[in-house]
Amino acid sequence: MPVMKVDLHCHSNVSDGVLAPAAVAETARKAGVDVWALTDHDEVSGIPAARAAAAAHGMRFVTGVEISITWANETVHIVGLQIDEKNQALVDGLACTRSGRDNRGREIAKQLELIGIEGAYEGALKYVGNPDLMSRTHFARYLVEIGACANTGEVFKKYLSEGKPGYVPHCWASLKQSVDWIRGAGGIAVIAHPGRYRFTQLAQGQLFDEFKQLGGAAIEVVTGSHTPDQYPEYAQLANYYGFLASRGTDFHAPGESRVDFAALPPLPANVTPVWHDWF
Ligand code: AMP
Ligand code: MN
Ligand code: MN
Ligand code: MN
Repeated sequence: MPVMKVDLHCHSNVSDGVLAPAAVAETARKAGVDVWALTDHDEVSGIPAARAAAAAHGMRFVTGVEISITWANETVHIVGLQIDEKNQALVDGLACTRSGRDNRGREIAKQLELIGIEGAYEGALKYVGNPDLMSRTHFARYLVEIGACANTGEVFKKYLSEGKPGYVPHCWASLKQSVDWIRGAGGIAVIAHPGRYRFTQLAQGQLFDEFKQLGGAAIEVVTGSHTPDQYPEYAQLANYYGFLASRGTDFHAPGESRVDFAALPPLPANVTPVWHDWF
């Protein structure tokens, strides 16, 4: 059987991606993807359109979501796969997580105004596809538009990360809540891009232990949010902690990602893929 190309982490304009769910499906298919999940931030409303488009393109579809949580004072992302997107506790929990994004957006704009960047709320709003889901990414796109930075990565570095003038702390759901919502909806909980957080080794180990104890099953190993030297590192950690391994581009927009859709390598051979018993 030919090797299947699996991508379990992508965003549409239902969160901070730029393409509609159906267009993300088409882009994934063109890049050779056979099994695909849409994992919008804190939101599942794109799933019906994504599922229909995946079927039309002959791709296997996996329901997904990427939940923002706060753990040890840091924002961490937990991906849920194979969830029942209609599960009431999940739907209610995500709605609760989304509330507060608009206020945070107004606060970010106020902070930016203090350093001379005006109209950022309205500016970011132009890029928002879902009024419930104003994201720092939308501010980043606006700051690129007005020439404050050359690209969105630079905007995060200069303005939107912790300690920078446009950073506004936000308290998200807890690790336990996210894992409970995902598992309660029949899904599998996955730590997204673990290499991106600024934890010490000790803290990262504590996160993995706690996640495992709560019923978390997998970590992302190959993701557009990791550097290539992190693939073998997190493959080894997945095996050490007894986690399954996931793979996804973390696609947001054509030309905006660190790794091109088609260029992301497969999982290393020594891990157990999170999809090992799906088909
Ligand atoms: P938010 O959920 O509004 O705090 O925004 C988080 C989103 O910002 C992430 O999902 C990424 O899409 C984006 N992001 C975070 N850090 C960076 C970075 N360094 N470069 C580019 N995008 C980033
Ligand atoms: Mn994002
Ligand atoms: Mn993420
Ligand atoms: Mn993501």
